[in-house]
This record gives sequence, C-alpha cells and structure tokens, in this order.
Amino acid sequence: MTKFEALGLNSALLNAITDLGFETPSEVQEKSIPILLEDEIDLVALAQTGTGKTAAFGFPLIQKIDSNSRTTQGLILSPTRELCLQITNEMQLYSKYVKGLNTVAIYGGASITEQARQIKRGAQIVVATPGRMKDMIGRGIIDISKIDYCILDEADEMLNMGFYEDIKDILSNTPKEKSTWLFSATMPREVAAIAKKFMHHPTEITVGAKNSGVDTVQHEYYLVGGRDRYSALKRLADANPGIFSVVFCRTKRDTQKVAEKLIEDGYNAGALHGDLSQNQRDLVMNAFRKKQIQMLVATDVAARGIDVDDITHVINYQLPDEIETYTHRSGRTGRAGKSGISMVIVTRSELRKIHAIEKKIKQKFIAKKIPTGIEICEIQLYHLANKIRTTEINEEVNNYLPAIHDVLDGLDRDELIQKIVSVEFTRFYNYYSKTKDLNSTEPDRRERNRGGSGDFSSNGSVRYFINVGERDGYDWMSLKDFLKDTLHLGKDDLFRVDVKDSFSFFNTEVTHKDQILETFTDFKVKGRFVNVEVSNSPEGGGRRRRDKGSKGKRDSRDRDRSRSKRREGNFSKGGSRRSGSKQGSSSGNRRSKKRDGFY
Ligand code: AMP
Repeated sequence: MTKFEALGLNSALLNAITDLGFETPSEVQEKSIPILLEDEIDLVALAQTGTGKTAAFGFPLIQKIDSNSRTTQGLILSPTRELCLQITNEMQLYSKYVKGLNTVAIYGGASITEQARQIKRGAQIVVATPGRMKDMIGRGIIDISKIDYCILDEADEMLNMGFYEDIKDILSNTPKEKSTWLFSATMPREVAAIAKKFMHHPTEITVGAKNSGVDTVQHEYYLVGGRDRYSALKRLADANPGIFSVVFCRTKRDTQKVAEKLIEDGYNAGALHGDLSQNQRDLVMNAFRKKQIQMLVATDVAARGIDVDDITHVINYQLPDEIETYTHRSGRTGRAGKSGISMVIVTRSELRKIHAIEKKIKQKFIAKKIPTGIEICEIQLYHLANKIRTTEINEEVNNYLPAIHDVLDGLDRDELIQKIVSVEFTRFYNYYSKTKDLNSTEPDRRERNRGGSGDFSSNGSVRYFINVGERDGYDWMSLKDFLKDTLHLGKDDLFRVDVKDSFSFFNTEVTHKDQILETFTDFKVKGRFVNVEVSNSPEGGGRRRRDKGSKGKRDSRDRDRSRSKRREGNFSKGGSRRSGSKQGSSSGNRRSKKRDGFY
C-alpha cells in the first residue's frame, strides 16, 4: 500500500497521483486528508502556499463529490485570479480519472458570459474569487444553495484584500448544513473571527510554526525630514532599478499629488484612489498588471483589490493611522513564495509608530539610509552595464555596422565602454552629484541653534508663519477652516490663528510640524505659492513685524524656494534623461516615457 493509499484515497485519485509523480503526502495532506475523508467536519488549517494544501483539500473534495449529479456541490474561494486559475488547473489534473467531474473557474477581468455558459453546462466544483462570485450570485447565474463543501483558501489574503463583506454575503447564500474548510498561512484576528462566526467547532491543524506576519517581507524604514519625503521617494525608486511597487499615501489628495509629481518627473507612475471612475481605475490597474506602471500610488481603500503577485516593494510614503493597515499594506508584497520589501519613509516624530508596528508584526524593522546621489549613480551604472550585457542583439543593426565602425574608428575597447555608459550615466550624474544627503540624523541647524527643541515656543506648540492674510480674503475663521481641510486636522489641533494684512500666524502641537511643512512645500492655491514656515518668534509677529520683517522674510523664503526647486525639480527639464516626461501628465504609462534601463 502506498502512503497515499493509506490516507484512504480511491483508485481514481491514486492513478492521477501516480501520473503527477507525487510520491509521499506532504505534512498538510497527511494531517487533513484522513480526517476530511472520514467525517463531515469543519477544518481550520494553517499552512503556507507551497505546502501542498491544494491537494490537501482537493483530494478529499473530489472523492466526496457525486460526479453523477450536475449540481454544484463544492465552492472554493480564493483571493486572486492567478490562484483561482492555479487551483482549477490542479483540480482538473487531480480529477482526470473521475468521469463527469467538472471544475470551473470564476474570476474578474474575464468574460462573465463565457463563465456563465460553463456554469450552465454543469460544474460540481466552482473555484472563484469573491468579487466575481458575488456578482454572479446577484445576477442569478449561479446557484450555491445546495453546496456541501465550502473551502476558503488563503483566508488571510482574502481578508487583507478587503473581501470580508463579499465572503459574508456569499456564505449567506450557502446552506447551513455544509462543511467549511479554511486554509490560511497566518491566523490574524480577522481570520479567527471568520472561523468563529461561520464554522462549528472546527478541527485545527497547523503545518510548521504558526506565524502572525508574512516573513517573506523585509521591513525597512528611512528617517528623513518632512520636506524631503518626496525626494526620498524618488531616490528609493532610482536606487532600485526594476522596482514594481505600490506607494501608499494617506489621502486621495496626496495620492493624486504624488502620482502627478512622479509622472512629471518621468517615472512610470499612476494613481489609484476613490475619486477616479471605475473605468479610470480599471485602466490604471491594467497598466499596472502589464508593468507599464511601475509605481502605483494608492490609497488603502483603493489598493484592497490589487491582485498582483510580483510586487517587489511596498513604499509607505506616509504611515497609516491604524497599525493593522500597515500589515495589509506590507502584505501586498512577498506573495506567492516571493520575497518583498516594505519601506517606510518616516520623520522623527513618527518613529514611535515604527516601534508599535514592530510589536504588532513581531518583526524588527531595519533602519536604512536613503542612498546618496553618488550611490544611486553607482547602482544605475552597474544596472546599465548589466543591461548592455544581457541585451539581445538586434540583427537589423548589422546593415549599419560598417558605417558605425567608421564613425567609431580609432576608439579602443576601454574608451568605447567609457563612452557607451557615459551616454546614460552623465544624465544621472549631473542630477545627483550635487544633491544633499536626505537622511535625518540630528535636529536641523535652525532647531539646534534654538536649543534643540524645535518647538520655538515655551509651551510645546509650534508657531507658524503663512504667506496669506486679509488681502487674500481670509479672516481667522476661514483661515482655520482652510488649514483644517488642507491638513486634515481637527478644529482643536489648530489654535492662535492670527490673520494679518498679507500674512498670518497659527499654532499646532509639535507632532504636526513635519506634516504641515511637508504639505506646504510647493503648495499652490489658484496658481500662487502658499508657503508655511516655522515662525522665528515664539509670539509670531506683531504689527511692527508685518511691515518690515515679513517682507524681508518672504523674500528670503522665495529665494529658498527657487533654490530648492532647482535642487530637486530640474530633473525632467533641460536635457535630463527624463526630458520627455512632461508629455504624460496623467496616465503615466505612455510609451514615450518608458525609461529604458534606468528603473
Ligand atoms: P500548493 O501548496 O497546493 O500550492 O502546492 C504546491 C505544489 O506542490 C503544486 O505544484 C503541487 O502540484 C505540488 N504538490 C502537492 N502535493 C505534492 C506531493 N505530495 N508531492 C509532490 N508535489 C506535490
């Protein structure tokens, strides 16, 4: 008797197993198959992808299904279309000797009519993603009211992707008397809650050690000043050629803004948020799937449905308010057996959040440095050299080779290599060689000169100067409203709002400082720059200051601004490698902007 026979499997399955070349059952198969075959039970199995879990539920399911009846008897829910197709394929291989057994895949992004036709022909087993399944139930195309088995595969992933409500709806269309088998790599609170709500005294099996987070993900944080957040993001992208990432922002507005800036600077970026129409979102997602978009800037809500497996990096442009949200974000990478990196750009005041997340995910963050300009140049140079080495030769160039030899005549090998790589490298070098270190290691100079607190006030709050006032139509109430809305702060977070003629002052607690300075970097209202600075005076400007001091200060601020724009803003202009970038102002996936080799 083979080991598979000993588990109680019938000859149709055993023959298929022989064909597949499986010799011994895996741990999860050994633990689950006998108990699932023997009894009608609910099961919670903690097992990672790649442990053979598809067969662990697939073999017993196939054996228990009545293939003479055309009724749908088994439903397998899985988080993504890729997994859905993979499971369907495996089930078809396992059941190849079971006459009349049909397994049909139901997933989004493909013709619903064709799927409906397949269901109509009779499918004893349906493998589905939750969204499409719910849709088909709603349209009366599929009947799952008589199923005996419901399998929730990669339950943690499904919940991570925001499918809780869909799953709940789908399960409410199934009979009470059925067996539910839940497979999950991890057991976060939400999965435990599902098990509790929808299952009856489930038997629990664990393969390997239980873990609460996905340890294929490395967590890194980068400490920067609030104003350098965007420059830091660009450097992280440039330092990781080949990046395929989701960049998370906290608000729809920031999401749109960051995506637009990236596009303007020549990156293949796109925005995904709730203010876009379904059609726009579909376009962005399609471009992302095809890797035409390499940096998808998204809000948490909009990112829930992303079913892309090979995301290399998740970048937390801003940290979420809820720690739980961070685990959802970082879970977008390191999937399907691949490794991934979750990067967090943080300011000093947010560091405590990193510690709170570490506790939650039971993993340590690595404190990393934003690469310097020269480091990025080096990375790009090697990337370019490697690209030259691996580029397939286009035979078409042969026709021109004699002429090209003439042009390059007299150059020796070393000189030729130097020149070839310099063609691209110099553009990078010119941009990055003069940029500053973005890493925040100590309080900035102004703060240090003032005794290190950085608060500029005696009571722990920060006083700010803003270059709008009565002349711009503000009074203290309307300015407070404007700041509240722009900064997403509560009304008590802003105080001592003093509106003067052409400028104003206001206070917040120091915790909001980085966010405020960052928001008002390159911030325009009706085409005019609205600038905020920490006020040099704790009391922030009496009348005397308004006339003389403010003008002087504003002039120097304007100078600072143009300097800072020159510093980070000229990348796409004046002959840089991204000089074509301005053309694509919204889609981010124009072919003209495809940045060969430097990504
Ligand atoms: P899964 O964890 O279900 O995604 O399975 C991972 C891979 O292992 C699939 O390609 C299966 O075909 C294969 N597999 C499943 N069970 C066994 C087994 N007992 N021996 C060898 N390969 C297996």
